[in-house]
Amino acid sequence: MRISEKQLEQINTQVQRLIAADNFYGKKLKEAGITEVKTEEDFLKLPFSQKQDLRDAYPMGLMAVPEEEVVRIHSSSGTTGLPVIIPYTAKDVDDWGEMFKRCYEYAGITNKDRIQITPGYGLWTAGIGFQNGCEKLGAMAVPMGPGNTEKQLQMMMDLESTVICATSSYALLLAEEIEKRGIKHKIKLKKGVIGSERWGEKMRNRIKNELGIELYDIYGLTEIYGPGIGINCQYDTGMHIWDDYLYLEIIDPETGENVPDGEWGEIVISTLVKEGAPLIRYRTHDISRIIPGECQCGSRHPRIDVIAGRSDDMMKIKGVNVFPKQIEEVLASFPELSSEYQIHISHLDGRDTMRIYVETNGSVDFLEMAKRIAEKVKSKIGFTPLVKVVELGVLPRSEKKSKRVFDERYE
Ligand code: ZN
Repeated sequence: MRISEKQLEQINTQVQRLIAADNFYGKKLKEAGITEVKTEEDFLKLPFSQKQDLRDAYPMGLMAVPEEEVVRIHSSSGTTGLPVIIPYTAKDVDDWGEMFKRCYEYAGITNKDRIQITPGYGLWTAGIGFQNGCEKLGAMAVPMGPGNTEKQLQMMMDLESTVICATSSYALLLAEEIEKRGIKHKIKLKKGVIGSERWGEKMRNRIKNELGIELYDIYGLTEIYGPGIGINCQYDTGMHIWDDYLYLEIIDPETGENVPDGEWGEIVISTLVKEGAPLIRYRTHDISRIIPGECQCGSRHPRIDVIAGRSDDMMKIKGVNVFPKQIEEVLASFPELSSEYQIHISHLDGRDTMRIYVETNGSVDFLEMAKRIAEKVKSKIGFTPLVKVVELGVLPRSEKKSKRVFDERYE
């Protein structure tokens, strides 16, 4: 995916504004001696920005407009260290709403729908983002916020909500409650718009089947507007990303170089028209890939795959970038296996190798099973691991989250 002429012009405008504003990125540009961006080559020389830069700018150091133009701030949760504060102008809020409205439209949601919004309202971007898009679309928002399952279900029945917006874990909890209470016939839900947590195919199918609804994955992060910068369409072949507002790259997290379309790597985003806090080449640490080719829906907005993990979890085996999540997904596709597994990476005879330990019961041919798993990893991810199948109960269990990945190359 190449950067277009129009996008280059937009980036250049952002660069000029950042230099003039002299915020953290403006200073980076000056240090690097960059004054303008005319070509793709110029663009690829622009420095990356990181979450730490944003923390260092706390509280208002990201602001790239005079304060009278800022109408709102949002903040990412500061679980480690200082939070990040993102200032928005009226246009930023409006643009975000437009993007979110487009997400709903891609999910086939219309102004006749009633959208029950369960993500939280407040400093973070979740609830209010879903709300803005809903109002722009002209649909009816039921702004519940999180928790209070009793009331959620009451409103869902009485107001006949047709769309549920939730995290995957909350959607699953609601699905289970509905099942338990035997009230499925009173629920009018048709679609679910689910925040971009990492979630597996198994969980997705459970929510889908128990609620009997279509599911749409929405992507976004507070630093870049919030949720709503991309969503999958009805063909469910990856999330379309709104490239008229953002330019998205996939890089090799180790080298920082762009990888070819179709290969996995870290998502890096540049905002094209953001005013309050423009970000250039922001490293999200989310792992995905560009899906090559065109979508059946005819949309020309590029697509990315589901988020496969965080770049901090990445391993490089035989030159292929691998994430534990990808291995997990392959293993999960074998019903014969237990949920326990271990992945060991070692360096033998000048080559990285991966050994995968899995468990199954005695009724399965262990050798044949190992061969099938290795073949599936090869076809899905691109290298052949050594697979060892063991008897059920052999792998250690832990009350806490078990350690499953052992990188022995650096021990
Ligand atoms: Zn599509």
